[in-house]
Amino acid sequence: MGSYDTIIIGGGPAGLSAGVYAMRSRLKTVLIEKYVPGGQMIVTDFVENYPGFADGITGAELSAAMELQARNLGIEIVSAEVLNVDFAHEEKKIITSEGEFRAPTVIIATGATPRQLGLPSENRLTGKGVSYCATCDGAFFRDKEIAVVGGGNTAVQDAVFLTRFARKVTLVHRRDAFRATRILQERALKNPKIEVAWDSIVTDILGDMKVTGLALRNVKDGSERTLPVDGVFILIGTDPHTECFRGHVTLDPAGYILTNEDMHTSVPGVFAAGDCRRKSLRQMVTAAADGAIAAVEAEKYIEALHDRTL
Ligand code: NAP
Repeated sequence: MGSYDTIIIGGGPAGLSAGVYAMRSRLKTVLIEKYVPGGQMIVTDFVENYPGFADGITGAELSAAMELQARNLGIEIVSAEVLNVDFAHEEKKIITSEGEFRAPTVIIATGATPRQLGLPSENRLTGKGVSYCATCDGAFFRDKEIAVVGGGNTAVQDAVFLTRFARKVTLVHRRDAFRATRILQERALKNPKIEVAWDSIVTDILGDMKVTGLALRNVKDGSERTLPVDGVFILIGTDPHTECFRGHVTLDPAGYILTNEDMHTSVPGVFAAGDCRRKSLRQMVTAAADGAIAAVEAEKYIEALHDRTL
């Protein structure tokens, strides 16, 4: 509780990176995190695409290293849930389960969660053939047969990307037409390694210790079949954690925070970084980069405030 130069909401790579940059700029900073710092990194088994780790690193280790780096610089990390915000005045207020925090600048880094199919087998087999990120896990499926669930831009584009590794990719879509843009559809449909299971839903993910197949049901004729695969990428969209900012900063129709390339939201002094903002590539490295930019912009904003009051 109290007054700060900047309040960071969220302790994933965007928030922790913003914390490092803010502390090095000597801003009095508090980072508010609902659970423990790390965000989606904590549940990421192995990270092979974060620069600097030639042999990869576990998500938990990377997360701990980022947290330690921020803590070594003296950041205050508070475990609290944000209940409401007030961005109407120059001094912004963040109302949390642990009291009220005030600062002229706020960096929102609350992240997003991949949508799940909601099958009991899904959680059990996550990391054992079930993945929500083609960029992260595609290379584990060299020469394997896999499935991609979804029909949007992510699913269709990533199905094509996954053919670089997999022998065969089956795109499983619940309707008879993709939502993805025409050019991506054309690219997928003419790829000889891609097959489409139209009008199909996944009723179960099969396998004990690892994925061995999918149980599919055709929603038009009700027929059921088993699709043998070694892995399944569930790419049916993500949900941003932005509900408590609705009406306070501008969101896109899907709930992502709109920013410019310097992470400015629609409210002066409020910045957004990482997966919670509308952007084209949601990865740890882009989240960390966003966080750095947001903190530098927050510092500039505070300097301009000081110059004005001199
Ligand atoms: P999306 O556009 O929301 O598409 C989600 C897809 O998953 C839809 O085809 C939807 O089916 C399907 N789906 C949703 N819930 C499902 C469920 N429970 N079971 C089975 N299928 C389900 O999400 P996205 O593809 O991740 O894209 C998110 C945003 O990023 C979009 O704005 C997209 O344009 C953008 N993006 C752009 C690019 C690019 O421009 N190259 C690349 C990637 C993402 P229905 O179609 O039946 O609703």
